[in-house]
Amino acid sequence: MKKSRIKKSKFIVTFLPIIIILIVFIWLLMTIFEGEKPQAHLKPLPEYLSKSTAFTITVSDLKMGLKNLNMSIKQDDGPGIPIFKKNFPYEGLFNKGGIHKFEEEFTLDPKKLILVQGQANLIIEIHDFSKRRGGDGNLTILEHKMIVDTIPPSISAMSRSHNVNMGGSGMIVYRISTDTSKSGVLVNDLFFSGVPFMNDPQSGIYICYFAFPYNFKKDTALYLWAKDGAENETKRSFLYHIREKRFRKDKIAISDRLLDNILSSFPPDLFDPGDSNIEKYLFINRRLRKENSAVLKDLCQSPSEERLWDGPWLRMKNAATMATFGDQRIYYYKGKLIDRAVHLGVDLASLATSPVQAANTGRVIFAQDLGIYGLTVVIDHGQGLYTLYGHLSSIDVTFGQPVTKGDTIGITGTTGLATGDHLHFGFLVHGVPVNPIEWWDSHWIKDNIYRKLSMLDKIIEK
Ligand SMILES: [Zn+2]
Repeated sequence: MKKSRIKKSKFIVTFLPIIIILIVFIWLLMTIFEGEKPQAHLKPLPEYLSKSTAFTITVSDLKMGLKNLNMSIKQDDGPGIPIFKKNFPYEGLFNKGGIHKFEEEFTLDPKKLILVQGQANLIIEIHDFSKRRGGDGNLTILEHKMIVDTIPPSISAMSRSHNVNMGGSGMIVYRISTDTSKSGVLVNDLFFSGVPFMNDPQSGIYICYFAFPYNFKKDTALYLWAKDGAENETKRSFLYHIREKRFRKDKIAISDRLLDNILSSFPPDLFDPGDSNIEKYLFINRRLRKENSAVLKDLCQSPSEERLWDGPWLRMKNAATMATFGDQRIYYYKGKLIDRAVHLGVDLASLATSPVQAANTGRVIFAQDLGIYGLTVVIDHGQGLYTLYGHLSSIDVTFGQPVTKGDTIGITGTTGLATGDHLHFGFLVHGVPVNPIEWWDSHWIKDNIYRKLSMLDKIIEK
């Protein structure tokens, strides 16, 4: 008994200090010598630095806490330019009262920092209060590479005369610098996207078809506009002349018989069952009209970049013009003004159920019912030009089908908001309705488009 007790105490005397040392060592490793690096997050992480940009840095160190934070920006072999420096205090036992989380917003202004164009490296170094690394603490380095680009792209007009009718179309040829990512024409704040000439963006030569909406004021400003990858923008004026146009006023009396006739073309579940006929009619003329134009606008957002059309657009054979583009329609019911709308196409009437031809070569992008337009076909002619054929009684083409100028695409009818058999012919430039008359006119096309394109052929031949 005695012997074993002596053995036990001998063992404790020999090993206890080792155990204690081991415990202390582990404790030190877990506290003041902890090896956990500080955490760091930077927001945002832009690819380019073009203008004064605000960033937020969030750093944290849950164990020994934050010791210091150093931010600098470096270009090539040059010295780092200091941006922000912060030393945190050591407080309380094992820095329990110190700073464990820190967030700061700072701005980088490439002009103020006199950064040159090209790569810049934002470097953020954070130390904690651990005694590791010879007492320096654990280190986290966060780097973010950006390209400094503060030079806006260049854009300038190559074509000279731009005479545009109110409610009409225009075309401009322009040159851009190769860093441009998006360019075109601004009509007030309405943007029309340009396309590279001959499908070759490297040439730097672009063409853009644009519309001057019928309801824009004559003194509306037009600009060429370009943006580069770094979001630098250039807005530049060019020579143009807007020709005033007065649109016709058209009084339309709505009778009860006409109402019945019109409403029979629409599915009854389109309306609230409790609505009167005139309420149903107003729903069609206002809400449905608005919804349909939104569908058309969406439909025309990704045109074929290639020019598919050639020569003037065909006008329906032997057809009389029943209504023109921009007609201001005022609707009366029992002598009272009830509504207004603008007619955004040309109505053409021939014999009932006449064949309808594709006015130019292109691709069918819509062939189905479209509310007030009834059975409708829309053709993409490339580079932002589209035609619309409404009120058809039948459609002979399908979505995606290529069509050649003169191909029969359907038969006239009275579907949608139509009172007699006719074709509603619409022309859209990037989804904005324009007067089709210009596109039927070979002289207008020659003066406003072909002359500008042939000038480019001469430049390219040289
Ligand atoms: Zn019409």
